Amino acid sequence: MHLRKRILVTGGSGFLGSHLCERLLNEGHEVLCVDNFFSSARANVEEFLDNRRFELIRHDVTFPLFVEVDEIYNLACPASPIHYQHDPVQTIKTCVHGAINMLGLAKRLKARIYQASTSEVYGDPEIHPQTEDYWGHVNPNGIRSCYDEGKRCAEALFFSYWRQGGLPIKVGRIFNTYGPKMHPNDGRVVSNFIIQALKGEPITIYGDGSQTRSFCYVDDLIECMVRFMASPVDFIGPMNMGNPGEFTIRELAEKVVEMTGSKSVISYEPLPGDDPKQRKPDITLAREKLGWEPQVKLEDGLKKTITYFDEMLKQGMA
Ligand code: NAD
Ligand code: UDP
Ligand code: UDP
Repeated sequence: MHLRKRILVTGGSGFLGSHLCERLLNEGHEVLCVDNFFSSARANVEEFLDNRRFELIRHDVTFPLFVEVDEIYNLACPASPIHYQHDPVQTIKTCVHGAINMLGLAKRLKARIYQASTSEVYGDPEIHPQTEDYWGHVNPNGIRSCYDEGKRCAEALFFSYWRQGGLPIKVGRIFNTYGPKMHPNDGRVVSNFIIQALKGEPITIYGDGSQTRSFCYVDDLIECMVRFMASPVDFIGPMNMGNPGEFTIRELAEKVVEMTGSKSVISYEPLPGDDPKQRKPDITLAREKLGWEPQVKLEDGLKKTITYFDEMLKQGMA
């Protein structure tokens, strides 16, 4: 038996946030989900609304928030390039003002706070795979900078609150994660390819498809996040969280076409600016400190995600 806590999840109705809320509710905690629904639908958390331990608040984290909680997971921030580039100024405000407000809240409550940082802090990396001691290769004024530099500033804020006030922080750098409840229109590669394949539309590969990503199934990621939060207070990160299995975007497209039995053709489109050429986490730290490593193979995770989107399409929701 562990203690029931009241836990704040910002961005709680998003893809990762909704899975985290579910996990925490299943563990018997009270969950306060805060979201402004910028890049998610309430549908992701609708199933929790009749649970008396779940509370949903519409709120933008760029404004102060006064609540009483024991722990904070700060996930609020659009994660897909088309969403975070839609209103880049708001993205920076969410990363920076959002972090300041949540850190101020954590400081007042002396609460543990987890920051959803990202592999994007490494930019277009010059070392491969990426280890946590790599400082990154980021264009400070390119189209991805609102997100990359916003998240880098958030890391600086977390470490400054830790240095200055001894705040118990946990900074985890999430690598590409996929699974059910991704927003069907958010433009990320896994959801795009699956929906295109299921609809028989062309699969849009940006560039020549030789760029790589390492894809982690959502359940593995959430397990890592929860273990990290529960780890000794002096282990603060930054820590990579992801699946080291690396694939080219062309390989992913072929896999999705094969698994869906789709007749979709491949269409090559221009590569967006500053698109990282390769990405793969070194997860030695998570293995050593948390005894964690991903369990779900890409094929198995894709299967579950395909089933989810197939269902959505049948219901006319995507
Ligand atoms: P998502 O877009 O599905 O979820 C983000 C949620 O934050 C959405 O529900 C959105 O409405 C909410 N939000 C955005 N701005 C807000 C604001 N100002 N105030 C309150 N809520 C706000 O994305 P996700 O994939 O679930 O990502 C969650 C977090 O994890 C993000 O911080 C993201 O940067 C980080 N991350 C995700 C990945 C990934 O592969 N999924 C990789 C690296 C980092
Ligand atoms: N803050 C908040 N909720 C709280 C406590 C603080 O949203 O319960 C916000 C507060 O509005 C402030 C920010 O967090 O802008 C940073 O707080 P901190 O105490 O670090 O700074 P200060 O209030 O001294 O500017
Ligand atoms: N991508 C693609 N076709 C799409 C969507 C994305 O080829 O329809 C590519 C994109 O250019 C990038 C990779 O897939 O190289 C991962 O893109 P995503 O937006 O999912 O995440 P991120 O670039 O943030 O890792």
